[in-house]
Formats: sequence, C-alpha cells, structure tokens
Amino acid sequence: MTAGRFAPSPSGDLHVGNLRTAVLAWLHARRTDREFLVRIEDLDRVQPGAEERQLADLAALGLDWDGAVVRQSERARLYDAALASLAGRGLVYECYCTRREILEAPSAPHEPPGIYRGTCRNLSDAERLAQAAVRPAALRLRSELPDFTIQDELHGTYEGVVDDFVLRRGDGVVAYNLAVVVDDAQQGVDQVVRGEDLLPSAPRQAYLATLLGNQPPTYVHVPVALNTDGQRLAKRDGAVTYQQLRELGVDAMALIAQSLGLAGSTMAELLEEYDPASLPRDPWVFVPPPG
Ligand code: GLU
Repeated sequence: MTAGRFAPSPSGDLHVGNLRTAVLAWLHARRTDREFLVRIEDLDRVQPGAEERQLADLAALGLDWDGAVVRQSERARLYDAALASLAGRGLVYECYCTRREILEAPSAPHEPPGIYRGTCRNLSDAERLAQAAVRPAALRLRSELPDFTIQDELHGTYEGVVDDFVLRRGDGVVAYNLAVVVDDAQQGVDQVVRGEDLLPSAPRQAYLATLLGNQPPTYVHVPVALNTDGQRLAKRDGAVTYQQLRELGVDAMALIAQSLGLAGSTMAELLEEYDPASLPRDPWVFVPPPG
C-alpha cells in the first residue's frame, strides 16, 4: 500500500490555510492513486475538543480518509522500539542542555540559531552522572553527517542541516521528528504533502528514515497562506476557521478551490480538474471576508 496523509496537531481549530493544505494533500494522494490517511499528532499541545472539530471540518469539506484515524498518543510502543534500535547501534546520547544554553552557544557564521552543536555528545560517565542529578536527560540522535539531501516535487533537490536533533525530550515526550518518521514508515506513507514551513525539517526526517531502514517519502512542501501583511496566517487574523467563515456566509470550500484556480465545488469535482503539475508555487494571500 502507498499513501499520502494529513497529520494535524490538535492544538486548536484548523484555519483556512491548514484546510487548504489538507485539500492539496488529499487531491495529490488521490490523483496519484494513493490511499489518504489522517493522523492526529497529539504528543504535545493538545486542546480538548480540537481533534473532534478538526475532523468535523475535514469531513464538512468532503475529505474522506482510509482506515481509522491514528493517534500518536496511542503508539508509544512503536517509538520506543525505534529508539531502542537506534540506541542499540550507539546512535543515541543523553543531553542535559537547556533551550537557552543551546540558543546562547557560539554558532558558526551563517548558521541558523538553535542548531545543536553537540555539547553533550562526548560526556564522560562522571560528567553524565553529575548532570543527571540536576535535570532529566533529553535523548539526541548521534548524527553521522552534517547535512542530507531530499527531493521535493516543488523545491527540487533540497539540502538541509542534520544536527544531533532531539528524539525524546527531557520530560519524556517523544519528539515530533521521531514520531513522524516512525509513523510514516509504519503506515506506508510514501508521499508527504504539507506546509512549506516544515521543509527545513525534511532532511533530518529523511535521514532518520534511512537510519531506521526505510526509504524516505516523496516530499511536496506547498506554500502556506499569508495574511494581508504578508505574515503567516494565524487564528488572530479574524474569521479564518471553517465555522467562523460559515457564520459569515462564506463557503470555505469555494474559497480554497478558487485559491487553487479550480472551478469545482466538491472534492470529487476538484479531483477531476486537479493537475498535479500545477501545484501552487506562490503563497496564497487570504483576504478576510467583510463582516
Ligand atoms: N503535525 C504537524 C503540524 O500540524 C505536521 C506534521 C507533518 O505534516 O509532517 O504542524
């Protein structure tokens, strides 16, 4: 089985930019004869009720998905097994750095802030013990290369940094980068359509996939929605959720279709018209409806 997916974090309602990404992921998967899966990424930042509202909004748009919705909070065993496999090969180490220490560590010129420079990579046992008395350890990947190259249908060949990124946080929560890679592989996801903001994470994830013995998926990082100030669309930009738009008499589906240059008004109609070669390349500027 091959599949595409949409994997929202239930931290609040989806806005119309997120919904547009979901529509694109669905169209792209269906158009390329793949199954379409929905996975709830609920390891972190869960708002009660958000998952139900997100799923209701996807269904209201006419998106359907194959099989049951999967929740990351129910898959700890899979993540633990992946961690154990990496640890067994010496690819995991304990890190005691705080976020602040990492941000303040000296970095090389032109290096984006927050890249981990391996402070805890080679601690002695004594150093580790001393640190462990102060705070719980995060687990990091002992990366064996500085960067990794992925293929993206929109961005072409894309090379990005692979630092010793976190696999499990100090509070015991499995990191997004590990969970997403384990889940995509285990669920047969070989096509990842998602917002462009996640493009810099893709080389880390693709590298981790190869370490776990899996072929990285095909990536399609689509432009995100912007507000009229040119900033990433957010809830505070006003009427941006499916329900808010509905209350103003605006059909989110029609708005999304129009933004994609498509004329249909149901998912089935959009699918007929949709040409994967004409994926949007520019951000979509969302103009709030009057109201
Ligand atoms: N859960 C992530 C988010 O909502 C998306 C992860 C992914 O698509 O890989 O930002």
